[in-house]
Amino acid sequence: MNNFSYTQAGSAKEATGLLKDKPQAAYIAGGTTLLDLMKANLEEHPQLVDINTLPFKGIEQTKDGLRIGAMERMSDVGENKLVLEQFPAISESLLLAASPQLRNMASIGGNILQRTRCGYFRDAAFPCNKRVPGSGCPALEGDNHNLAVLGTSESCIATAYPGDLSVALAAFDAVLTLENQKGKQRQVPVKDFYLLPGKTPQKETMLEPGELIVAVTIPMTAQARRSTYLKVRERSSYAYALASAAVGLDVQGGTIRAARVALGGVGTKPWRSPEAEKVLVGQPATEATFRAAAAAAMRGAQPRKENAFKVELAQNTLVQALMKVAG
Ligand SMILES: Cc1cc2nc3c(=O)[nH]c(=O)nc-3n(C[C@H](O)[C@H](O)[C@H](O)COP(=O)(O)OP(=O)(O)OC[C@H]3O[C@@H](n4cnc5c(N)ncnc54)[C@H](O)[C@@H]3O)c2cc1C
Ligand code: SF4
Repeated sequence: MNNFSYTQAGSAKEATGLLKDKPQAAYIAGGTTLLDLMKANLEEHPQLVDINTLPFKGIEQTKDGLRIGAMERMSDVGENKLVLEQFPAISESLLLAASPQLRNMASIGGNILQRTRCGYFRDAAFPCNKRVPGSGCPALEGDNHNLAVLGTSESCIATAYPGDLSVALAAFDAVLTLENQKGKQRQVPVKDFYLLPGKTPQKETMLEPGELIVAVTIPMTAQARRSTYLKVRERSSYAYALASAAVGLDVQGGTIRAARVALGGVGTKPWRSPEAEKVLVGQPATEATFRAAAAAAMRGAQPRKENAFKVELAQNTLVQALMKVAG
């Protein structure tokens, strides 16, 4: 791990000012991702700017929906009464993530910006296009059992965002508020925030250098109230998803009026599926409809030797999640 200086920022202006013209410096929130990467010499930051004192707090109802400050802790948001009532899928995505100790420490902003768990990315002895552009991707023919089958490229097949929360946020049209170094704010939908790997897998999100995540806002809808997050993992204590589904349905008189579907663990970004939603809307809320939607969601998947099982697993996960909210 490299030596670094540490400064606590008193305001957003001070925080962004401290990073100005220092591309190697980084913000630190809970530190549960950042320090791991630094200890493994996968990221090197000569300066860390602590943003825990910034007023990016609060979980409140606004005219645009529920606004959650980026410095809120995962556990506080997951257990919040409004989140539990209005967004069961978001609450479940947080409470099924990591361990209780990590959830108490980790922030919403940091969770959104966590990095891939691809084993080759996490081992500096291997080449990796995401770490060193142009160096190669050993996962294409190597150990890819936990990597993506949707949105992949010949440069990278990693689930670049391996977590849970952003899958639920993408499903329910959440929007991020970002603040740049000039103090200007902009809004970016979560479903567009993450980038496909293409030929530039090192560029993972739309965040500009020095930009801060201030908050996330989620519209309140009938389908968000009737929602769930189902996560399939290799052990129940804590583990990343092999496949997961965030779904919400608005069902009236047995017919689906609105549907939201996003998948985790199978795409190179949190995978919103308009294809599945199109199959669901206007149809009866039955297992046959759900199976057709699951087939649509995974059409175009490009499985490799060790992750081919994910195509069927993701379909079954999606059907189960839809059955749960329909029932
Ligand atoms: C053993 C283990 C198991 C885990 N299992 C899961 C799991 O099952 N599901 C899951 O979803 N996650 C899981 N995680 C990941 C965990 O949720 C993340 O480490 C955590 O959410 C990161 O939050 P943090 O506040 O600690 O971020 P930090 O480590 O402080 O920061 C992460 C990155 O975000 C940047 N950053 C942080 N906040 C902001 C902001 N507001 N604006 C701009 N940049 C910012 C930092 O500069 C850094 O680059 C696991 C982690 C571990 C170690
Ligand atoms: S899949 Fe992506 S992160 Fe993993 S080794 Fe290949 S380029 Fe690197």
